[in-house]
Amino acid sequence: MFQKAIRWHPPSYDIRVESVPVPQIQHPDDAIVKVTLAALCGSDLHIYRGHAGVEKVHTCGHEFIGEVVSLGSNYGVDSAKGRPTLYYHLKVGDRVVSPFTVNCGECSVCRLGYTGRCPEGLLFGSPSLEGGQAQYVRVPKAGGTLFNLSDPSTWSSSMSKDEKEQALIGLTDSSLLMLADILPTGVFAALQAINHPKVAPVITGRPWPLCFSPPLEGPGNEVRLNAEDKVLTVAIIGLGPVGVCAAISMLDALAIRQVPFRIVGIDPVEARREKMKAVYTTIVQAGEGTGEFVVLSIEEAREKVEDWTGGVGCTTVLEVVGNTSALSLAYDLVRAFGAVVSVGVHGALPLPFTGRQCYNKNVSFDFGRCPARAMFPLAFDLLVKRQDVFGGIGEPASLIDRVVDFTEAAESYRAFDKGEVGKVIFDPWK
Ligand SMILES: [Zn+2]
Ligand SMILES: [Zn+2]
Repeated sequence: MFQKAIRWHPPSYDIRVESVPVPQIQHPDDAIVKVTLAALCGSDLHIYRGHAGVEKVHTCGHEFIGEVVSLGSNYGVDSAKGRPTLYYHLKVGDRVVSPFTVNCGECSVCRLGYTGRCPEGLLFGSPSLEGGQAQYVRVPKAGGTLFNLSDPSTWSSSMSKDEKEQALIGLTDSSLLMLADILPTGVFAALQAINHPKVAPVITGRPWPLCFSPPLEGPGNEVRLNAEDKVLTVAIIGLGPVGVCAAISMLDALAIRQVPFRIVGIDPVEARREKMKAVYTTIVQAGEGTGEFVVLSIEEAREKVEDWTGGVGCTTVLEVVGNTSALSLAYDLVRAFGAVVSVGVHGALPLPFTGRQCYNKNVSFDFGRCPARAMFPLAFDLLVKRQDVFGGIGEPASLIDRVVDFTEAAESYRAFDKGEVGKVIFDPWK
């Protein structure tokens, strides 16, 4: 049995659609998923460009949604009880979405919610694991990895089981595919920033370090913050699909907490800035977004932050690009005692600032991959809430630009690499 798959060939910029064997169960914990849709992602470009040092031909893609067609012998048996719930409950025919990495769901790292760094973790669409831009994909440790969209009782949520079931009826596969990476990664970036201890004085309205303790006794023991001190200033560097998701999540979290804000979204590409503006307009029309939100080029943004903060800098900066110039800009824009959250995929280059620069700004840096499996419940709730943005295809405020077949694979990679298109989805059966 053979299938069509989008394959990368070394050294760079070489994408081919090839006929390869349909994957088979290799381990009793495996599932085979028939892919209904797979997405092209910014982090696919690191391998595409030859920057990742990869030499092995492999199937691309780490964002996919599909249907279970085969399960290993560890599913549905008594010994599966006590393991992650899908080992007992997952069935052939279930609709599933996968996070972009495999995670066992059973080790201490996974239990703590750091699923993106499970010691048994593997990245789909890398030399170590064939990707999802194919008609079929093998999912190792599938009981700990997959989300079963056919059984909403298998994950927690702010919604009841009935509400989840109702919501799922209205959600298209293209919308649910956002749960594989870009939406959980955007939520992760926003929540890391908002929950960062350096940001606590602004969020709580109490100065450092009293923001972490009960109120002190007696008058005059606490400095009072004025209204301006309690405005959260945020820069979001990079307005590709993940940056837009981070902005959406940030706006949602600030609306819930009723925190006043000034946010600047930054991207050198005009088409991305226009997309971000259209998304923000949609959100404002829905009644959220009571602060100031602007979308600017890099130089304009430097001036805006200077103007907003009198040269002090932003409370927090989200870096969603993954190169040294974006990190440099983040360092420049963040305030002393600020927090930079970096979810861009960085390569081997050294960081663009010295230890002395870090010391002199008391700056915190949070780097790294999103634990997508752990973020899923929060991302799902936001996906349902923001169908005005996530539900469409090819509209001004849609994150998905188009759905194409595999004959357009090489051209889609080329155009995406050049910034000529936004998010592209492949239908392997079209
Ligand atoms: Zn991705
Ligand atoms: Zn694990």
